[in-house]
Amino acid sequence: DRLTGSDASDLERAAEAALRPRRLDEFVGQRVVRDQLSLVLDAAIGRGSSPDHVLLSGPPGLGKTTLAMIIAAELGASLRVTSGPAIQHAGDLAAVLSSLDEGEVLFIDEIHRLARPAEELLYVAMEDFRVDVVVGKGAGASAIPLTLPRFTVVGATTRAGLLPAPLRDRFGFTGHLDFYSSDELERVLTRSAGLLGSALQPQAASELASRSRGTPRIANRLLRRVRDWAEVRGDGSMDLRAARAALEVYEVDDLGLDRLDRAVLRALCTRFAGGPVGLTTLAVTVGEEPETVETVAEPFLVREGLMGRTPRGRVATPAAWAHLGLTPPADGAT
Ligand code: ATP
Repeated sequence: DRLTGSDASDLERAAEAALRPRRLDEFVGQRVVRDQLSLVLDAAIGRGSSPDHVLLSGPPGLGKTTLAMIIAAELGASLRVTSGPAIQHAGDLAAVLSSLDEGEVLFIDEIHRLARPAEELLYVAMEDFRVDVVVGKGAGASAIPLTLPRFTVVGATTRAGLLPAPLRDRFGFTGHLDFYSSDELERVLTRSAGLLGSALQPQAASELASRSRGTPRIANRLLRRVRDWAEVRGDGSMDLRAARAALEVYEVDDLGLDRLDRAVLRALCTRFAGGPVGLTTLAVTVGEEPETVETVAEPFLVREGLMGRTPRGRVATPAAWAHLGLTPPADGAT
């Protein structure tokens, strides 16, 4: 697992649970979404009814699962958790839906990965609070409508664009989570350090924030590595020295690039004079699968303005040359 990857393993999710904000006012940043959501929730609480279904979209590690838990907590409701890939058949979803209690919140992670028949069943359940339970098989099968209690779906997706319009339309509120600013990540880190029972010095918080790729999950992960370093090789304090030393061990540089990111950029600049070069050639040069380069390294390099994608291939930007301390060729390769 990469230290700077934005997905989490099951083991890491367990470690993350301790750091999750429990209420909306503890949730750092995302001011617009927080504000809109608090209106939706307060209005529903005031009316004594369930709120509209909520769709949360945005890249991994920005707090969608955390917000789903917060929504349930603010409503004083219990949370049921499932995910698109976990629901293989419409019947699996029907079983979950028909076991819901009044007012419960059903969190469906990766909702864009629901199979089509399950998706269709969900439209009806979300709109009419009804599922048709199919009894029997073949020509003798019949559908028995089952009325469901009012519940709220919180759907999370990294790819809102992949959701079919009829499903998207069933959500009364959609919140889009954006990458966090350094200031916000400093607050996430300081709060997390407190929960871990250690103090994080402000300069160290700022150093970690700037290398966390705008992502609280990565910030918390770097924090745990700094704590290790401070305890094992330092004097226990999480100061700037500990932060820098730990990140050096893990080869995370001052922009948050790791070894693979830098290898890709370096190959682009030194082997291909800044490009353009095709993805496959670039991947072979760094000894990785094209898919790894495309999904793991490239998105952040492009987002940081270090790499460009053109119809003729990948190109290094002037910022890439500068970051690697290299001089671009005089003939002005991009
Ligand atoms: P995925 O799409 O991979 O499931 P996610 O968007 O659901 O990711 P979470 O699991 O909610 O992300 O968050 C990852 C970690 O970051 C958690 O430990 C959570 O506590 C922390 N975190 C996320 N957002 C915030 C925030 N706004 N304030 C404080 N901590 C946060």
